[in-house]
Amino acid sequence: MNESNGKALVLLSGGQDSTTCLYWAIDRYGRDNVTTLSFDYGQRHRIELDCAAAIAGHARVDHRCLPIDTFTALGGDALTDAGIDVANETDATSGLPNTFVPGRNLVFLTYAAALAWRLGVDNLVTGVAQTDYSGYPDCRENTLAALQQALRLGMESNVQIHAPLMHLSKRETVELARDLGGLDAMALTHTCYNGLRPPCGECPACLLRAKGFAAAGVEDPLLAPA
Ligand code: ZN
Repeated sequence: MNESNGKALVLLSGGQDSTTCLYWAIDRYGRDNVTTLSFDYGQRHRIELDCAAAIAGHARVDHRCLPIDTFTALGGDALTDAGIDVANETDATSGLPNTFVPGRNLVFLTYAAALAWRLGVDNLVTGVAQTDYSGYPDCRENTLAALQQALRLGMESNVQIHAPLMHLSKRETVELARDLGGLDAMALTHTCYNGLRPPCGECPACLLRAKGFAAAGVEDPLLAPA
């Protein structure tokens, strides 16, 4: 494969991990070479999209949003279906958390690769991580490697998928954000599964986030008094 070009498209959900990845990409490729992408996939917490736009504005990078309404039509997961409670429930059949949206990352990365192709961008950056997470199979390294291969073949492109947080713990992710100057932007991020701002502090996502900041010995800017 040829050397990839120096442009990156960051999948920005508005959360802590993707925001850390944005600062990783700015550090690696330069602000002018970074574009961010969010998906309006019918998520119950529309606040995520506002957060993503605000974070991109704060970081002074381009931001795009693509609509995908198919996941809502599929239903059955707690992120898009208001009839399902996000209380860390596990699906009896799959053994996965009910926040698992089947194939979501595959679809996101495929659309991202399509946009990257249009923009002449080789590098896709995603905040997925194998460690410290819910065990979504489409966040694993082997899935990403296989998808990258499929995208390269299917688009005759040089696309490269980067997952800089893949093997980091939540603590290490907080430390990385701090070291890259991304802590201020953390005040604009959204993590809470209950869609609350300020966050509820009790849902699995809030608890995991709090654990990471505490372990890193860093105060969460989202919780700091204004
Ligand atoms: Zn919460």
